[in-house]
This record gives sequence, structure tokens and C-alpha cells, in this order.
Amino acid sequence: MKIYAERLIETVVDRTCDVCSESVMIDVAGHKYEECGELKAAWGYASKQDGDSYHLDLCESCFKVALFALRDHRRSVVMFDDEQKHPDDKFGLASE
Ligand SMILES: [Zn+2]
Repeated sequence: MKIYAERLIETVVDRTCDVCSESVMIDVAGHKYEECGELKAAWGYASKQDGDSYHLDLCESCFKVALFALRDHRRSVVMFDDEQKHPDDKFGLASE
């Protein structure tokens, strides 16, 4: 026998950037698309930050700020090392 009851179900109706607070939901022709970048880490025993977890939701603009900062840092790390790949405009792209 099936027994039925009404239940409230929570669903995600919006998601915002943790930096600028803008929505990462983009409306295209009446449909909402979630376009969100994420920066996350869960540090373990061998880390200096053992037990710390980070998770930031990022809009496209703030994601690029983080990406460009990391790309610039990579440039400074390999600046005088010709044996390592120097970052270009495709830095971080999954297809690279
Ligand atoms: Zn943002």
C-alpha cells in the first residue's frame, strides 16, 4: 500500500557570488542558467591548515579576477625559468 502525504521540498532558486553578491543565475529567453565558478579546498593532516575547508561561489567576473591573480602569480614564479611553461591567455583552461 502506498501512503501519500504532502511535503515541502526546498529547491535552489538563486545562487549568488560570495565576493560581489550578484546572482550567478543568467536568464536566457525565460530560462535561468546557473553559471558559477568555484574555488574550494579541504585541507588535511599534512597541511598547515589541517581541518580548514574553503568554498567560494564566484560569478564570471569575480572568477576572472581570481584567475588573473593566479596567472600573474604563476608568471612571477616561472619568470626566470625557461624550462617551465609560462602562462598565456589559456592559463587554467581544462583543455590545456
Ligand atoms: Zn562576483
